[in-house]
Amino acid sequence: MEGLVLAHDRNSLAAQLKQYRLCNRCSERQGAIARTKLSQPCFICRGLMEKLDSLTEKIKTAICDYEFDTFLVGATLPTQIYEREDALRARLKIRGMESVKNQLTRELGMRLARQTRGKVDYLRPDITISLAIDKENSIDVTAKSRPLALAGRYTKKASGMPQKQDRCPDCEGKGCGSCNHSGLSGYDSIEGVIAKKLMAITKGITPRFSWIGSEDQNSQVLGKGRPFYARVSDPRKRNFRKITIRGNGVQAILSTVDELPTTQPRFIVKTRIHIRCDKNLTKKELQALRELAGREVSYRNRSKMATKRIRSASVRRIDSNNLVLTVVADGGLMIKQFVGGEEYMKPNISEVLGCKCECVRFDILDVELQ
Ligand SMILES: [Zn+2]
Ligand SMILES: [Zn+2]
Repeated sequence: MEGLVLAHDRNSLAAQLKQYRLCNRCSERQGAIARTKLSQPCFICRGLMEKLDSLTEKIKTAICDYEFDTFLVGATLPTQIYEREDALRARLKIRGMESVKNQLTRELGMRLARQTRGKVDYLRPDITISLAIDKENSIDVTAKSRPLALAGRYTKKASGMPQKQDRCPDCEGKGCGSCNHSGLSGYDSIEGVIAKKLMAITKGITPRFSWIGSEDQNSQVLGKGRPFYARVSDPRKRNFRKITIRGNGVQAILSTVDELPTTQPRFIVKTRIHIRCDKNLTKKELQALRELAGREVSYRNRSKMATKRIRSASVRRIDSNNLVLTVVADGGLMIKQFVGGEEYMKPNISEVLGCKCECVRFDILDVELQ
């Protein structure tokens, strides 16, 4: 008869439970109805279950800065509470009833739902509230929110700005007091500029980024910008439509997404490359560059060979040995190697023009996700 207490057993159970001093909630959990006021602390919970109201207030203080629609309450209880309840249940042959932890978190969840208008969500709560209760019944309440997932694009007009920021040397990125819980060594990169503002706006910590490709630190990023994803831990604010960030020549526009992609999406990049050659260029040689359109560039990627497809190529001559080549190609084509041809890459610009070529600079005109 697990999980059930038959009606005719109720009276005898209540009588048996009387020999223990139990508070009302601990009696109810055994299947008995109790309306007593204990003069001594309850045998099982030692007064914990009488603290639900003050505990609810403590939780509300811990979560007062957070925006949330859903929450979940979890608890760690001292083993002694379980041991006392288990001993009582073994003796009275009570089985299949709710656990003390379940009753505690359920009752707190109901109170919080009423008082905050949030809903309990077991799978994907906006905030997770954790109670740590020691054997003296002192209670530590912590709250943490679900990370915020964002998708965005950035443009960059500044020169000399790298994409990535080094990790904080003290915490190696985990977040600590000396990096203001950013996990970063500073804010003098695209990552740094966006991270700093994201932390200020979301009141979260340790933003993490995944970039859809990269460029040189002197490259401009134009058009709609380069796509990227970001995840901010423990955000206080989470209800955003659009976030716009500007600073140091960088502009980023982000919006929240449900999930971040688990694999890097394929993408196509339009790049404008300034090339200097060590000889004067003929019209015929420039024509050879246009014919790169439709070809595949192969190169060594670690131990195996990989290819990137050139979708279009247009050329403009600036003077006798300087030119601008605009290519639309698969994302990830390494532009400097493609021009110089030092590391194995075939075809490459130096080879096509039959002279030594150098990439003076390159700019990203557009990035298209596939
Ligand atoms: Zn109790
Ligand atoms: Zn740090």
